[in-house]
Amino acid sequence: MVTNVPMLDLKAQYRTIRDEVRSAIDEVCEAQYFILGPKVEAFERSVAAYSGARFAVGVSSGTDALLAALMALDVRPGDEVITSPFTFFATGGVIHRLNAKPVFVDIDPATFNIDPAKIEAAVTPRTKAIIPVHLFGQMADMDPIMTLSRRLGIPVIEDGAQSIGAEYKGRRCGSIGDLGCFSFFPSKNLGAFGDAGMILTNDQALYDKLKLLRVHGAPSTYFHKIVGGNFRIDALQAAVLDVKLKHLDAWSDGRKKNADYYDRAFAAAGLTGRGAIKTPTPVYRASGDRHYHIYNQYTIQAENRDKLQAHLKAASIGCAVYYPIPLHLQECFAPLGYAPGAFPAAEKAAGAVLSLPVYPELTDEMKDYVVAKIIEFYA
Ligand SMILES: *Cc1c(COP(=O)(O)O)cnc(C)c1O
Repeated sequence: MVTNVPMLDLKAQYRTIRDEVRSAIDEVCEAQYFILGPKVEAFERSVAAYSGARFAVGVSSGTDALLAALMALDVRPGDEVITSPFTFFATGGVIHRLNAKPVFVDIDPATFNIDPAKIEAAVTPRTKAIIPVHLFGQMADMDPIMTLSRRLGIPVIEDGAQSIGAEYKGRRCGSIGDLGCFSFFPSKNLGAFGDAGMILTNDQALYDKLKLLRVHGAPSTYFHKIVGGNFRIDALQAAVLDVKLKHLDAWSDGRKKNADYYDRAFAAAGLTGRGAIKTPTPVYRASGDRHYHIYNQYTIQAENRDKLQAHLKAASIGCAVYYPIPLHLQECFAPLGYAPGAFPAAEKAAGAVLSLPVYPELTDEMKDYVVAKIIEFYA
């Protein structure tokens, strides 16, 4: 009998790929080639092909992917960058670190992603980039965002940290904007054995610049053309990730199956019908898209969220609030001058969201236990 369900169980995943991963690690150990080199190049080619982008640059983390992407676009002090307030902190943090100003735009409550209709009003002559975040595994509404971007001449960086492999009208995450960023933090759908990230682009000039930025701006040793950083991905991580990438679509299918299972169970119990909870809303389906939502998180909106969370925790069910405080209300961004009420949809989401375990190795018995405990709470 199931009596606990963790939020994520990386050991269960590792058991299924142990031998493959360990032989890839062994190859790196035998070659003693740790910095860039063949393993990194192979993984970059794999992710570019998988995502439908021309170029890929492996970097040290998702955060560094976003930071290097902004540097590649020459974002400078005083510039403004538009993004969503309902995201992981890194999206806003990297803007501030370049002494640029994050300018937030409210979300579409159905998808939790930036509302394209509200972006233009936030544009000023200082706007240097727009960063839509593809939150929880579903892409932002990219068509209107790209139309606006091209009309105003403002480049787009996709924050695809949670959405590698997600599809929007037949195109994959990271391949639509001028730049696309991934995180391979262990809890993302494609997780490294540590920190790692990647930047995609279809633009040769941006690709060349990113490769320079990754190695302190040096085209050859000790000749520094521009100021960059150490943004390199480890060859060991690239080797592990290249093995795991082959399984990613099957894992995404597993997450989708689990999400569908929850959707059906909550509807059958009448919980969605009477508004106790709202299940995720996949919006941008196109025929043939298999992964219009890859469920990095299965995030419900719940009446009495905090008490439900306590109830689930007491039943040893892992669950989490992503994210309790939108970026515009974070203490470190107080100088930006946003007040509560500035972004009602983001604030409402922050007060209602709860992410449930959805990782592919969940059994039906585990999902049934989660569902039963939620039904029990609202009974
Ligand atoms: C995880 C994440 C990042 C940062 O990635 P790291 O690899 O942890 O640095 C950025 N944006 C979003 C939306 C994320 O979920």
